[in-house]
Amino acid sequence: MADLNTDVRYIKGIGEKKAQALNKLGVFSLRDLVSFFPRKYEDRSSVKPIALTCEGENICVEAMVADTPRLTRVRRGLDIVKLRAVDDSGALDVTYFNMPYAKDNLQRGETYVFFGKIETSGPRRGMVNPVFEKAEGERHVTGRIVPVYRVAAGLSQRVMQQAVRQGLDACLEELPDVLPHSVRERCGLAQTGYAYENIHFPADFEALELARRRLIFEELFVLACALGRMRGERARESGIRMEKSGLARFWAALPFEPTGAQRRAVEDGIRDMDSGAVMNRLIQGDVGSGKTLVAAALIWHCAENGYMSAFMAPTEILAEQHYHTLSELLTPLGLRVGKLTGSMTAREKRTAREALKNGDYDLVIGTHALFSADVEYEKLGLVVTDEQHRFGVGQRSALIGKGQKPHVLVMSATPIPRTLALIIYGDLDVSIIDELPPGRQKVDTFAVDESYRERLNGFIRKLAGEGRQIFVVCPMVEENDELPQKLKSAEEHARDLQQSFPELRVACVHGKMKAKDKDAVMSAMAAGEIDILVATTVIEVGVDVPNAALIVVENAERFGLSQLHQLRGRVGRGRNKSWCILVSDHDGEENRARLNIMTKTNDGFKISEEDLRLRGPGDFFGSRQHGLPEMHVADLGADVNVLQKAQQEAALLLADDPGLTKPEHAALRESVERLLKSNADSFN
Ligand code: ADP
Ligand code: MG
Repeated sequence: MADLNTDVRYIKGIGEKKAQALNKLGVFSLRDLVSFFPRKYEDRSSVKPIALTCEGENICVEAMVADTPRLTRVRRGLDIVKLRAVDDSGALDVTYFNMPYAKDNLQRGETYVFFGKIETSGPRRGMVNPVFEKAEGERHVTGRIVPVYRVAAGLSQRVMQQAVRQGLDACLEELPDVLPHSVRERCGLAQTGYAYENIHFPADFEALELARRRLIFEELFVLACALGRMRGERARESGIRMEKSGLARFWAALPFEPTGAQRRAVEDGIRDMDSGAVMNRLIQGDVGSGKTLVAAALIWHCAENGYMSAFMAPTEILAEQHYHTLSELLTPLGLRVGKLTGSMTAREKRTAREALKNGDYDLVIGTHALFSADVEYEKLGLVVTDEQHRFGVGQRSALIGKGQKPHVLVMSATPIPRTLALIIYGDLDVSIIDELPPGRQKVDTFAVDESYRERLNGFIRKLAGEGRQIFVVCPMVEENDELPQKLKSAEEHARDLQQSFPELRVACVHGKMKAKDKDAVMSAMAAGEIDILVATTVIEVGVDVPNAALIVVENAERFGLSQLHQLRGRVGRGRNKSWCILVSDHDGEENRARLNIMTKTNDGFKISEEDLRLRGPGDFFGSRQHGLPEMHVADLGADVNVLQKAQQEAALLLADDPGLTKPEHAALRESVERLLKSNADSFN
């Protein structure tokens, strides 16, 4: 049989030209070709007598060409071929626009199968541009379920179908089965050859379903094995063993009682760090659940053992804020806390780098500047990354590479649906903080349209009058953004607001400002020197202004649910009642339903599940850089149960053969390695 790595151009029936077109679709090898699954299918399986067809129906009819097809050139650029086809029940007028060759390909007296949409005019039935092929002999494009592929210039559906057919014929018999026998049997899955044949050219819908089920499982199983193997390797890696224990002094220094969930997460982390293996732990908790405290406890533990920690935040603003909170908490306990951010002067940076190299800090807080090449660490024991989804995984590992395998704590403030967490963080152990500190009030949320503007302004005036502060969020407006409706930029909106509220202090912060200026504005907000802060989503993560009572989100339709939830988390952080108002004039059904979810629940996990359901996993993370490997058949949002099953099976298999070295697992190992290699950015 043909080697699966064979270049497509050498496959029978595919030449240089078609190969080039296929390359544009990312299809280079025979394997790529047979794994290039249809985008959808067209059901051309039913055939009816002409008289029984109905208007608008997509159907096959088997009919004889009753007269010689006539070609008329109506005008330049418009050719029409007309013919009449008949079966025992009736006649069909067939028309082809700009397909002059139909005249020669359809022979009077021959019987063909035509597939198309039935159009009627009075008692007559017709089809325009139907697909056709001879009724005699093997059928490829009629009388069956036909695959529809994504195509590129130079490829038609017909050519694509033929190419795949050629590819399958070249290797179908001997496609290696990636799934071990026992797994396939236990899970009741179809065989490889059957699956590949029927995902492309299904015999019927049941066969298609069986094929899909098998291939989805296979894809998720390979993914689960890859993640399981990485995780296994990590678990076997020895790490710095923390010997000295006891957090009593830390707990005693806290201004409040930790919640049960915080305690549990801290205990999980300490257990990892004391175990002698490297910690790779994710702390997942809703906004305001108090993740910072968990990090602080582990940082303290690390310092007690004579190691330093690095805390990486995604933005300058957040780094600054964490620097304040953590210094306040840890300095009195005797820890030396430093920072390193991109906006520091060259001199400040140099001093900080010196301190890091000499081990003068117990904790350094910063942005990605922490892992630039010229930074060296003395005794780095713990790396904490906050809001992990904003970092590429590669960045995380750049920092991890700095020490001799420091422990890693990842904190995610976006509650991620469990299913996705399994994948994105598949190589991490997870602690979930599912409890908010006591006394938190629910943020009352309303979705309104422009007609509420006056009332909204009245509300802003009233709150500001009481000395409370207000966030107003505008969507990011890129200059080259072509927008269907008028969107307010943050700056513009700030000017408008200042005009409406001359007595209030209005400021603006957005991503294009210099980090220093941003920080200045944020500090002024935190210090209560600003009444209304207009911002883009730079305030989305983490920023803490307990006195803020209201967040208004303009053009709320432009934001994802999880993002809105994050934004809403900017208020309700103090003791007082807070509100979130989502302004949207977009009156689509779907938009209203989405925004309504926000008004009904404050549970971040629930919201993220909805977000995933509504927008799919790709959108959920914005882009691939957030670590989702690309799936061919599986839908990471929808195939949850299969994913769980695949993970169970993978765990069983890896327990028996951790390195996948047994000969019967060779094909699987190869697939796993290919996946790891092609997603090197996502996994490491
Ligand atoms: P997040 O999980 O969103 O990062 P933070 O760590 O910023 O949450 O905590 C949010 C707020 O809750 C902070 O002001 C913090 O001081 C406070 N906080 C954290 N834990 C507790 C607790 N156990 N009791 C009371 N307040 C707490
Ligand atoms: Mg936080």
